[in-house]
Amino acid sequence: MVISSNLGFPRIGPNRELKKALEGFWAGTIDERALRETFRAIRRQSWQWQQEAGIRHIPSNDFSMYDQVLDTSVMVGAVPTRFAWDGNAVSLASYFAMARGDAAQNIAAMEMTKWFDTNYHYLVPELQPGQTFRLCSTKPVDEFLEAKALGIQTRPVLIGPVTYLLLGKSQVTGFDNLSLLDALLPVYEELLGKLADAGAEWIQMDEPCLATDLDANAQAALRHIYQRLSAVSPKLSLLVAGYFGPLRDNLATAASLPVQALHVDLVRGEGELDALLRVLPKSTMLSLGVVDGRNIWRTDLDTARRLVRQAVNAMGEDRVIVGPSCSLLHVPVDLESETTLRADVRQWLAFGRQKLSEIVALAECNAGEAAMHSLLAENAAAIKDRRCSPLARNADVRRRIDAITPKMAQRANSYPKRRTIQQEAIPLPLFPTTTIGSFPQTPEIRSARSKFKRGELSQDQYDAFLHKTLTETIQFQEEVGLDVLVHGEAERNDMVEYFGEQLEGFAFTGNGWVQSYGSRCVKPPIIFGDVRRPTPMTVRWAKEAMKCTPKPVKGMLTGPVTILCWSFVRDDQPRSETCRQIALAIRDEVHDLEAAGVKIIQIDEPALREGLPLREADRPEYLRWAVESFRLASSGVADATQIHTHMCYSEFNHILEAVAALDADVISIETARSNMELLSAFRDHKYPNEIGPGVYDIHSPQIPTVESMVALLKKALEVLKPEQVWVNPDCGLKTRAWAEVRLSLENMVAAARSLREQARR
Ligand code: GLN
Ligand code: ZN
Repeated sequence: MVISSNLGFPRIGPNRELKKALEGFWAGTIDERALRETFRAIRRQSWQWQQEAGIRHIPSNDFSMYDQVLDTSVMVGAVPTRFAWDGNAVSLASYFAMARGDAAQNIAAMEMTKWFDTNYHYLVPELQPGQTFRLCSTKPVDEFLEAKALGIQTRPVLIGPVTYLLLGKSQVTGFDNLSLLDALLPVYEELLGKLADAGAEWIQMDEPCLATDLDANAQAALRHIYQRLSAVSPKLSLLVAGYFGPLRDNLATAASLPVQALHVDLVRGEGELDALLRVLPKSTMLSLGVVDGRNIWRTDLDTARRLVRQAVNAMGEDRVIVGPSCSLLHVPVDLESETTLRADVRQWLAFGRQKLSEIVALAECNAGEAAMHSLLAENAAAIKDRRCSPLARNADVRRRIDAITPKMAQRANSYPKRRTIQQEAIPLPLFPTTTIGSFPQTPEIRSARSKFKRGELSQDQYDAFLHKTLTETIQFQEEVGLDVLVHGEAERNDMVEYFGEQLEGFAFTGNGWVQSYGSRCVKPPIIFGDVRRPTPMTVRWAKEAMKCTPKPVKGMLTGPVTILCWSFVRDDQPRSETCRQIALAIRDEVHDLEAAGVKIIQIDEPALREGLPLREADRPEYLRWAVESFRLASSGVADATQIHTHMCYSEFNHILEAVAALDADVISIETARSNMELLSAFRDHKYPNEIGPGVYDIHSPQIPTVESMVALLKKALEVLKPEQVWVNPDCGLKTRAWAEVRLSLENMVAAARSLREQARR
């Protein structure tokens, strides 16, 4: 029999129980016992759902109180010294301090970064030369036994040692993380021994590094490690799981690992099945990741079945496992809880629980038509409906896409010419001051929005509230003395959702939450069809703002790449195609803003960098269409209209050429935390346009001093010409409180004035 398996289940709970419990615990409203009880209930529920669905290899240790990489650091004793760890089991307080920092004792949290190319964030292991490791937690064993006590045999999931080390960071430049492998190995050996003693039969070793560029050293490390780990216990079978992409040049290494099973991502690496079947040793089982763990569309079971059949024919059914492409962590829990999602789109979707049923159907129906599964007929109908649906295609949009010319992605004149024209059109002082767009999203704003959504506030009442907020925000900026004002974004819940809700081709879930990090969840929109902007989306707010002030007001839009990256995207056409459609919609909005008299328009692209493919070889192609989409959105304006963009990532250096190619007149970027370091890249590259290097970190509650910001700006001026420099915070201010914002911005304006003063002398 083909084995049905799962690589990991969402751990937030069907109603974000994880988030609520964590926040309650941090706020002191629930105690540790209640917290742990909630976690146990979430685990029990997930295991039972998987068991009921008929999954045979059910994962355990896929749960985490905060993050699975942090769990691994804590388990192997990789606790940074600043947390004053005594060497025993890490306490709950220390665990959360590592995750979130300890404000009382002024200890910084561990750094957080994106988990491969997902929107999930993990805590980066901090590695030291000569570091030692020790098994400090039995979490995988405990959770295995917890499931066992419920009568459920599970497959514990561990982050493989090679991936774990490669994800780490060391302060020492040039340090080879993998040099710690031999120190780490005994910890894994000890753990596997304990799991075997506890009765585990299969262990899932996640090695998503297999989808990245690995050098010969890393490939050798994989072979070495699994040679050793497979020798730990004859009772254990190891499954090494690669996911998030095809194996490519890692295929031979992956196939040759001396383990019982290899899992591969056949959603992104569909074409590799043939090669795998050719090279996989007779003794190795193959786990086929044919159900997309990264997206919410129903699997085309007919197509997936053909892959399963091909593997079964080549290997025999006893050597084939069927599962999701990766852990289901990246999709919402259950489609059943969607009550408001439009029905025509809903029938095309599968969330976590529905994907379990798909996996089981695929495992059960491999034997041929005899085992025809009831889900198959229903699935075929839904797939056909989606494929032929007029909902997904709009002739108008298609015509416009076909009519795109290269000229449309090009401003009329080059930047130096535009600059002269813009200086005339928009008189500004040297070192102009501005903000990134949002102002505090106060409890009043959030409450008004939810009252409006619940129907407790009428449209008129809500509009009046927003108008009042906008007026006050403009007045505030005038008082503080900013040069370029914004309307404040009070009407926006989220910078992507707000636009998606006004565009055709988008659908929204009521409960489709996905973990972003720790207690944070996001609810990505679903792009199911051609994207079109039926009516202006922001013009009204820009107009209102302009009425309140003689100062220039900046229109505020989210860029096409960011809208794409933070949504679930249709998989029936290339992402680049969907991105261009969004770009045209934003282009229409830019056009209307300009026509309404808005002279400065900012198009935010904070996600430009995170959309980068994992493999170096795929990056130029991505950057090509991403940049083209931004330019398509922004280039339809007159030379006199100033285009801004905003990005908030400290690691720009390797995509700086693409950033420059956006050809925005002004870019604001996050730099305060990295102490302006990234600007060196701008020097080397001789960035020609204007830049607002963020002068203070909006994530910190500290009020930045005038001196600190003057110092940062002076540092920037070592690299940039005075005429190039704008003065602004690192990012939007929506998470801050008004009192802090006032003091911070007053200081920021004072810093700009002091520099102007000095420039005059
Ligand atoms: N304009 C947005 C804001 O100010 C930008 C947010 C972002 O960069 N993530 O909130
Ligand atoms: Zn930002």
